[in-house]
Amino acid sequence: MADEAITRESMAFDVVVVGAGPAGLAAAIRLKQLVPEAAVCVVEKGGEVGAHILSGAVIEPRALAELLPDWRERAAPLATPATNDRFLLLTARRAFRLPTPPQMHNRGNYIASLGDVCRWLAREAEALGVEIYPGFPAAELLEEEGRIVGIVTGDMGVTREGERGPNFQPGMELRAAYTLVAEGCRGSLAKRLMQRFGLRDGCDPQTYAIGVKELWEVPAANHRPGLVEHTIGWPLDAATYGGSFLYHFGDRLVSYGFVVGLDYRNPWLSPFDEMQRFKTHPSMRGHFAGGRRISFGARALSEGGLQSVPKLIFPGGALIGDAAGFLNVPKIKGTHAAMKSGMLAAEAVAGALGAGRPAELAAFPEKLRASWLWSELDGVRNIRPAFAKCGLFGGLAYAAFDTYVLRGRAPWTFHQRHPDHATLLAADAAPRIAYPRPDGELTFDRLTSVFISNTNHAEDQPAHLRLREPARWEPVNWERYRSPESRYCPAAVYEAVGVEEGRPRLQINAQNCVHCKTCDIKDPTQNIDWVTPEGGGGPNYPGGM
Ligand SMILES: Cc1cc2nc3c(=O)[nH]c(=O)nc-3n(C[C@H](O)[C@H](O)[C@H](O)COP(=O)(O)OP(=O)(O)OC[C@H]3O[C@@H](n4cnc5c(N)ncnc54)[C@H](O)[C@@H]3O)c2cc1C
Ligand code: SF4
Repeated sequence: MADEAITRESMAFDVVVVGAGPAGLAAAIRLKQLVPEAAVCVVEKGGEVGAHILSGAVIEPRALAELLPDWRERAAPLATPATNDRFLLLTARRAFRLPTPPQMHNRGNYIASLGDVCRWLAREAEALGVEIYPGFPAAELLEEEGRIVGIVTGDMGVTREGERGPNFQPGMELRAAYTLVAEGCRGSLAKRLMQRFGLRDGCDPQTYAIGVKELWEVPAANHRPGLVEHTIGWPLDAATYGGSFLYHFGDRLVSYGFVVGLDYRNPWLSPFDEMQRFKTHPSMRGHFAGGRRISFGARALSEGGLQSVPKLIFPGGALIGDAAGFLNVPKIKGTHAAMKSGMLAAEAVAGALGAGRPAELAAFPEKLRASWLWSELDGVRNIRPAFAKCGLFGGLAYAAFDTYVLRGRAPWTFHQRHPDHATLLAADAAPRIAYPRPDGELTFDRLTSVFISNTNHAEDQPAHLRLREPARWEPVNWERYRSPESRYCPAAVYEAVGVEEGRPRLQINAQNCVHCKTCDIKDPTQNIDWVTPEGGGGPNYPGGM
């Protein structure tokens, strides 16, 4: 559809924030605290704030306490203190308790639903005068004379063929002096900004993991509120990074998830099926006994650490939160980092608004380098790359040495040289993995899982998952890797069909997509491009998720 033919309405703000996650909402709140008269708007692609938020989540309240010191009196939904940490190494039949590494001690932290926390933060932001627009994806960037001057929200009512349908509504231009991009891991606009302004020049490739999560309601007798359990080992082999989390919280809720590093090599691996079979381990079944699965979802997370953080500022704005890669991998926590980076960006914006509105928010990276967040991430920067270099047991040994002996002050820095899409072995060079059939009670298939994520996309719209060169799929994805996307996608979006007839082709069931972004990351030739679908499309995670 020719964009120049569309007349768009335009609204002007001082600041537009893309994404109502912890980073974007913390930035908006901080800005209004500092400059109450500033016009601040937040756009969110989910149908409501929290609808697309997927996290563990054990939350470290350090940044929250700086942002809203009276968060308890304001009834923040952090009701379950973490009281009992357990760290286990699993073999196929047994579980061995290991000493909990210091980064994974959770005293003072809270188990919560990050979606609910974001809903609450959104109310706090609105009370300060922030305008929040859920159901409005930022689809395009507005650039004038080399400076980003806002975003364009997605058009509504465009047909599958790209024509204007009967309900066509053009997206709006939201113009602003500064645009803060808080899209979370592998943001679609963040990706374009990195290319346009060379923001990744000189840093390591970003590396990622996929987290597949279920929310369970269990009988009171099995519920141990405050329990935080992490495992490593089975069902993954020692060369594959990952593990599980299990958090008991709230009213008989258990948040269970399985994380797999996307630098995995075996194209037969399926993170979804690893997550399902994990529950069948003798020491894990008990967590779910007599329980009922309430919801399901998946999301990628950034694992590269400080070495992979790109240049944070571009003319007219900044990247914040997971969009920039602020996540502490050994802690498995990014919420406090996302919030802190958003708050520091807001402080830089507040200064710039009162100083002639220069294009570059130069104070933001300076403030970050001087902050506790930078020191925290600097202290753990070698741990995840050590697992990539040395595997599970070498990685554990290095992590202990780095933490207890060097205390995070190693005079060296390990680097990540290969992006995740370049790590797959050819299918015939890797062992096949036979996953058990789901039983429908403890373990499930993809389609029934997607069903309870409440995922929905209007059918008649252009596909939001595009193959840059469709002809590349058969010789590369099929011939060499046997369609790894049909295994790493947790939502059955990709299906290799026509195999029996000897005419394999890729079917894309885009309506199932839960917006985890794994395909955009892991496709071996980066042939898959994830773009924002029509507003409100995607999962609709319930409260508690
Ligand atoms: C499985 C899993 C478990 C985790 N466990 C923990 C944990 O226990 N503790 C912890 O602290 N952290 C945890 N994390 C990490 C934590 O969730 C993230 O670090 C944090 O959510 C990052 O916040 P953010 O605001 O940067 O991005 P997000 O939380 O991802 O929020 C981004 C928001 O932007 C919206 N958005 C994206 N693109 C657009 C667009 N173009 N237009 C409009 N809106 C858009 C999204 O819909 C979303 O609402 C976990 C992550 C995962 C995946
Ligand atoms: S299509 Fe891509 S983004 Fe969507 S659920 Fe599958 S892997 Fe995730």
